Amino acid sequence: MSFNLASILTESRIAHPDKPLCHTDEDATLTYADVDEASGRVATALLELGLERGDRVAVQLPNVPEFLFTYFGALKAGLVLVPLNPLLKAPEIAHHLHDSGARVFVAHTRAAETALKGVEAAVADGLARPQVLLACGGDRPEGTTDFDALLRAEDCGEPAAVQAGDTAVLLYTSGTTGRPKGAELTHVQLYMNCTVSGEQLGLREDDVSLAVLPLFHAFGLSSVLNGAVRRGGTIVLVKRFERDAVVAALAKYRCTIFAGVPTMYQELLRADTSGVDLSSLRIGSCGGAPMPAEVMREVEETFPGIVVLEGYGLSETASSTTVNTSAEERKVGSIGRPIWGVRVRVVDPEGRELPPGRDNVGEIVVRGHNTMKGYWNRPDATAEVLRDGWFHTGDLGHSDEDGYFYVVDRKKDLVVRGGYNVYPREVEEVLYEHPDVTGAAVVGRPDERMGEEVVACVVLGPGSAATEEDLVAFCKERMAAYKYPREIRLMSALPTGPTGKILRKELRA
Ligand code: AMP
Repeated sequence: MSFNLASILTESRIAHPDKPLCHTDEDATLTYADVDEASGRVATALLELGLERGDRVAVQLPNVPEFLFTYFGALKAGLVLVPLNPLLKAPEIAHHLHDSGARVFVAHTRAAETALKGVEAAVADGLARPQVLLACGGDRPEGTTDFDALLRAEDCGEPAAVQAGDTAVLLYTSGTTGRPKGAELTHVQLYMNCTVSGEQLGLREDDVSLAVLPLFHAFGLSSVLNGAVRRGGTIVLVKRFERDAVVAALAKYRCTIFAGVPTMYQELLRADTSGVDLSSLRIGSCGGAPMPAEVMREVEETFPGIVVLEGYGLSETASSTTVNTSAEERKVGSIGRPIWGVRVRVVDPEGRELPPGRDNVGEIVVRGHNTMKGYWNRPDATAEVLRDGWFHTGDLGHSDEDGYFYVVDRKKDLVVRGGYNVYPREVEEVLYEHPDVTGAAVVGRPDERMGEEVVACVVLGPGSAATEEDLVAFCKERMAAYKYPREIRLMSALPTGPTGKILRKELRA
């Protein structure tokens, strides 16, 4: 069946060409017609550069309009987009370019030096030299092309007819193990995901959604960008998370939706919101990591009118898998129920389905329109996670009698202390109940006697006099003896990655 994901843009443009698709944090506004036309020009220019159907276009940009032009332009031309994290260093860039076999690399002019080093390393490894396009103005080094020159090509018009099951995007992720691999997401898969989850969340044409989650990541790309464009809504592009600027943008554009990972919500609680009108906010979409119940409660208290809805997904599931759909239907602490057309199960190590119940913790597996085709050029890694059509997430969880699912932890984050499983998330939830705790992450430290010891890294609010001993005592009173943290490390901040997720690997180190 012929179908192109870029139709979400062309169809919304036909419906309302002059409506803003995005505002930027530099006060520019682009309409649906602007973005549709610019991406049509990029599509033509990419083909004129000699690219052919299925060729890969890597893009390493923050949340700027040029990202949208490259994304929709590549789709319209029948090419495959490979979005990269702007924080990647040259050797990492080289890995992604080489692994994906990128023929074009769109980077930010300001990051030209690192980008070119990455290209050189990839070429030294055998990659045919890709064309480097630099976007967002500034001086360009020799041997690179100005991205803006692409915008002078003719608009390609209708998107190329591709097969619905053709790959549209390679999203690089480490998955449960190893070096980053490209999860192959198809046109129909991405289309279904934004359509179904948008429908279930009741997204509307008049929604204005703040896009601070990076667009190179599944949550930002599929749930925020595709979700808004599919509905004909508006997004506010923000390049980096800075709490006061985010609050100002929410107020300025009367945003109705904020999508973020839990650490962003924690930060928002510390922002100065006095005298700011945030009454337009109606949905706080949350995922990517477990949302502490206490943070959810405080957010709803601080931002009246908002209802925080937690969902769950992965790069490999593009992205939505389960959602809590409304204030009435949600269960706090749960990741919600599977989206339409997707089945979710909890299985034991032998692959047998476990019945509902808190004590029946197993691996969460997923099957449906949202699961990736596979990892690009990695049949072995694909076979490990895609078995009998079920995608094995590497997350541990359980279900309940009503069909809601709960993530207890990532398999690899599990701490095994003296033979007992300690789920970091459970300990963190208790720490958040302490009035002074504003951040908590629990990790395992190798221990001769216990195998692993439970260590909690904690951030305290300003002026707190709580000591390590107080916090240990607080936990000891509230949980079984084998679980409570024996060691507390007070920190000024927890290390987070570009999507705002806590970097447990760094904490362990
Ligand atoms: P990524 O591929 O970067 O999107 O990361 C996917 C991982 O994020 C999942 O395997 C989970 O470990 C984690 N994750 C996503 N949503 C949630 C959630 N609501 N609660 C707990 N963990 C989550």
